[in-house]
Amino acid sequence: MTSTHTELPSYPLEAPASAALLDRALAVIPGGVNSPVRAVRAVGGTPRFMASAAGPWLTDVDGRRYVDLIGSWGPMILGHAHPSVVEAVRETATRGFSFGTPSENEVALAEEIVARTPAEQVRLVNSGTEATMTAIRLARGYTGRSVVVKFAGCYHGHVDSLLAAAGSGVATFGLPDSAGVPASSAAETIVLPYNDLAAVEAAFAARGHEIACVITEAAAGNMGVVPPVEGFTEGLLRIAHGHGAFVVSDEVMTGFRCSPSGWYGLEGPYASGPPDLFTFGKVMGGGFPAAAFGGRADVMALLAPTGPVYQAGTLSGNPVATAAGLATLRGCAPEVYERLGVVSRAIAEGVSEGLGREGVPHTVQWAGSMFSVFFREGPVRNYDDARAQSTEAFAAFFHAMLSQGVHLPPSSFEAWFVSAAHDDEAVDHVLASVPDACRAAARGFATIDA
Ligand code: PMP
Repeated sequence: MTSTHTELPSYPLEAPASAALLDRALAVIPGGVNSPVRAVRAVGGTPRFMASAAGPWLTDVDGRRYVDLIGSWGPMILGHAHPSVVEAVRETATRGFSFGTPSENEVALAEEIVARTPAEQVRLVNSGTEATMTAIRLARGYTGRSVVVKFAGCYHGHVDSLLAAAGSGVATFGLPDSAGVPASSAAETIVLPYNDLAAVEAAFAARGHEIACVITEAAAGNMGVVPPVEGFTEGLLRIAHGHGAFVVSDEVMTGFRCSPSGWYGLEGPYASGPPDLFTFGKVMGGGFPAAAFGGRADVMALLAPTGPVYQAGTLSGNPVATAAGLATLRGCAPEVYERLGVVSRAIAEGVSEGLGREGVPHTVQWAGSMFSVFFREGPVRNYDDARAQSTEAFAAFFHAMLSQGVHLPPSSFEAWFVSAAHDDEAVDHVLASVPDACRAAARGFATIDA
């Protein structure tokens, strides 16, 4: 991977075909998008409407190509339109899309997840939000308690009780909470600083008998990448279990990406045993709507139809979505994880060197091969640290990369996602774009007032 001979495009800021689609979208979809971060408001400008994607490349409706560092926010670990996934989807779809009865693919996907993780049983759902929502219901059903502890800056989907201090998209818009969440829901959520076991001890000392579970991102990725400090996960398990509460480990982002199982594969096993419930999504759906939650068989037995905790879904375990997820997980061979490591290190080192040369304060943080760049000195251990970065410098960096054909996540509170399909050409293209973007970041850098 050398960056010397790569021919870089220089795209103008205007994107007429995307702008025209945005106009149409604004008339019929709030903000023109179906998920807020896609509106790119944190960095400004026109969101690029994509027409197609292959391997590490996105092509927009103006015909411009970008090296993709969003990866659909995690699922595209094998790259876009991977032949074996396309074939699995095509072959399955020709036999029907959805039956409303059980089918084999969902069993095979559940077996694959159970084989890779400590979960003894899983239930398949359609989104990470559904997975965390139901995991919490199950924790409440099992313990007979209602209070949930979460950490500021961790995002677990748009579940009412989990939207307090929710990082990522919420951080991007500077909203502390969402309107429309009843005070009663918020009152049942205790928000604590991430990586702060003393705060967890204090919360349990005060209200331990009311707490159903602690939910945590296995390694945080929604305030940028902030891994748990040594002993944090273990301490959570010890404290929660000491008070008869569950730990829900949200591996929607990290699952099957940080290692063949997820963050657990890097940090576990723990002396206190595995977390009681896990949530998964993204990679296990291969780009289709599929997610899961799982845990001990005796806990999962509380779910309907065997138990009293209700959960259901018309399209849950959809044959086509599960075929895509299964083909993706089966494609995640050791070489895939090796390549993710090589690509992410090459890109992170290139960016860090470039920013260093321009004197831009920054730090790169990791969870396995998952990383993000904070535009401030490190370490970043929690949400307050993450917020004290120059979002202006990031915005300038983002647009300079975009104009050279590299599509970063449009917020400095997001992980950068690479795939095993990021070949040397794609990596060289990213690295060749870096010097110009670092100069832009240096110009855009505003003094941090925290
Ligand atoms: N948990 C985590 C850790 C996530 O990163 C996300 C999505 N970014 C979710 C839950 C919610 O998943 P979904 O968007 O599929 O509802």
